[in-house]
Amino acid sequence: MTTLLPVRAVPAPANGAPRARRLPSTGAITDAFSRPMRDLRISVTDRCNFRCVYCMPKTVFGRDYAFLEHDELLSFDEITRLAGVAVAHGVHKLRLTGGEPLLRRGIEGLIERLAALRTPDGEPVEIAMTTNGSALAVKAEALRAAGLARVTVSLDSLDDAVFQSMNDVRFPVDRVLAGLRAAHDAGLGPIKVNMVVKRGLNDHEVLPMARHFKDSPFTLRFIEYMDVGTSNGWRLDEVVPSAEIVELIGAEMPLEPIGATAPGETAARWRYVDGGGEIGVISSVTNAFCGSCNRARISTEGKLFTCLFASEGHDLRALLRGGVDDDGLAAAMASIWGARDDRYSEVRATLTPELRAARPKPEMSYLGG
Ligand code: SF4
Repeated sequence: MTTLLPVRAVPAPANGAPRARRLPSTGAITDAFSRPMRDLRISVTDRCNFRCVYCMPKTVFGRDYAFLEHDELLSFDEITRLAGVAVAHGVHKLRLTGGEPLLRRGIEGLIERLAALRTPDGEPVEIAMTTNGSALAVKAEALRAAGLARVTVSLDSLDDAVFQSMNDVRFPVDRVLAGLRAAHDAGLGPIKVNMVVKRGLNDHEVLPMARHFKDSPFTLRFIEYMDVGTSNGWRLDEVVPSAEIVELIGAEMPLEPIGATAPGETAARWRYVDGGGEIGVISSVTNAFCGSCNRARISTEGKLFTCLFASEGHDLRALLRGGVDDDGLAAAMASIWGARDDRYSEVRATLTPELRAARPKPEMSYLGG
């Protein structure tokens, strides 16, 4: 059994280039708050076939929007190399995101490569995906065969008029539900369903969604509407606090809290007292969870972001295409993560609306959830 020793990186020199300090080939990387890097989210495309109003509004992502060119995207080889280095240094879970990851051609081939990775202890790495479910009914079997373990599907309403006003491309609910069934039949579980709740838009759908997914193989999670990126016009009064959602559901279908299953879990879990399954609430606004946040993100064109709300990323693609070897990549990751002190959700409330608005933030569609 390899002993994973915490590795403290040497701070990066003033010119920002990571100090070429050789790291042991394995060893957990921790940040300024001793949070390990355990969960790596990889955005494989900045494109999406939906235009969800809280993520990719048409007013910004219209016909003339300049998406990244293909050669700007990380190739599957590059993604696999970065993931391999991260796994050697403590990452246990890889999540493929986007945009809509199923739009990336040949994604099954990437999953096969990632599924072949092993932790220093020889354990397989868990490969998960966050998708809008639009192509799941067609692709579920192939994704499972390639090595995908599980999916999280976004669904913000069961009411077609509401859902279509939110995805803004008239995509029908029943095709997402068909995708969910196909994912379940293919064994891509446990399957979570994420609902972003925005007051005045779909908060009246909380109970119908809870009733629908209770006693089903799917775990419904309610996400507080967040100020991700700079294009969704976020307002605090449009956030429905998770406590309000739990109270609303619990009044009709009694709930009790249950503990987290793993460190760094984003959702607080509640189960139905009558055994009808569980729900989750993700409370980035009213109950921040930065203290145990172990999530790193790689953007579509290869920048490492240490927080969903970080203002800028660190260009690993330049290192990859500059001929840097895996030890050099590891040193760069360790240097970047080692200096990490992000806890935006904890400080959000202390920022004035002006300060919040002035802070450049990557779009969710570019960085992935
Ligand atoms: S705000 Fe940043 S540090 Fe906090 S939980 Fe989210 S990603 Fe992690």
